Amino acid sequence: MTEQTENQTKTVLITGGSRGIGAAIAHKFAANGYHIIIVSRSGSTPEHVDALTAYGVEVRDFKGDVTDFSFAKEIMDTVKADFNTLDVLVNNAGITRDTLLMRMKESDFDAVIDINLKGTFNFIQAASKLMMKQRAGAIINIASVVGEMGNVGQANYAASKAGMLGLTKSAARELGMRGITVNAVAPGYIETDMTDEMPEKAKAAMLENIPLSKLGQPSDIAEAVYFLATQSYITGTTLDVNGGLYMN
Ligand code: NAP
Repeated sequence: MTEQTENQTKTVLITGGSRGIGAAIAHKFAANGYHIIIVSRSGSTPEHVDALTAYGVEVRDFKGDVTDFSFAKEIMDTVKADFNTLDVLVNNAGITRDTLLMRMKESDFDAVIDINLKGTFNFIQAASKLMMKQRAGAIINIASVVGEMGNVGQANYAASKAGMLGLTKSAARELGMRGITVNAVAPGYIETDMTDEMPEKAKAAMLENIPLSKLGQPSDIAEAVYFLATQSYITGTTLDVNGGLYMN
């Protein structure tokens, strides 16, 4: 059952929409009548696709890698053919390969930059061609508090997420005159597969630095993304959703 029907024909593409934060974002938009396009390497479970379809919207689930420049373009051609428009792009696919700087392999640095930063560029470029013709659209990049603060053992990840913030501001400046907003959401620590891997001791230490004394939920990020996607006078900004861990 959808929360409202006026967005019935709108579409949102969510990279990494198969699980975690991306899955929660997909639920939020589907509940508001958006058709959902998901991109991930392993694909969504049938249960996830069924749960989204139950909102009465169309769901396309594509398997592919965001680092593949031509794949991003092919996806956009399919979106154009199937739906004619792309209203919202959420660049959410991301990975971590944590280790101390001195031990970090070149391949760990490259993989994180390629997926988190270059993947975001690939999809922004492919989507903005369609959005520029529409003279409307919203792009939301899922960065991280770590891109703002830095973190021990996450030099590659912090660099990729800080890069996303620069990319967000540049894209906002270039695309604003075409009616396209580009913003970032910077989550703090959110309960997903990514943070499940953290040792309990590290989680407890982290909680001491969060004024709201709890981890965030994927739905907290979904609310922020939906807000940015459905407003028209905020662009180039970063919305911190971190329980007060970092105050800008
Ligand atoms: P997650 O549970 O590990 O999910 C990551 C998603 O990205 C999956 O759907 C994954 O699917 C997809 N993905 C990864 N690499 C991909 C690639 N090369 N091409 C296409 N899809 C790819 O992560 P999450 O915790 O939900 O995080 C989502 C985003 O929020 C990430 O950008 C992350 O950096 C950011 N973030 C998370 C937290 C947190 O506390 N969880 C905090 C700050 C920021 P496949 O593996 O099947 O490809």
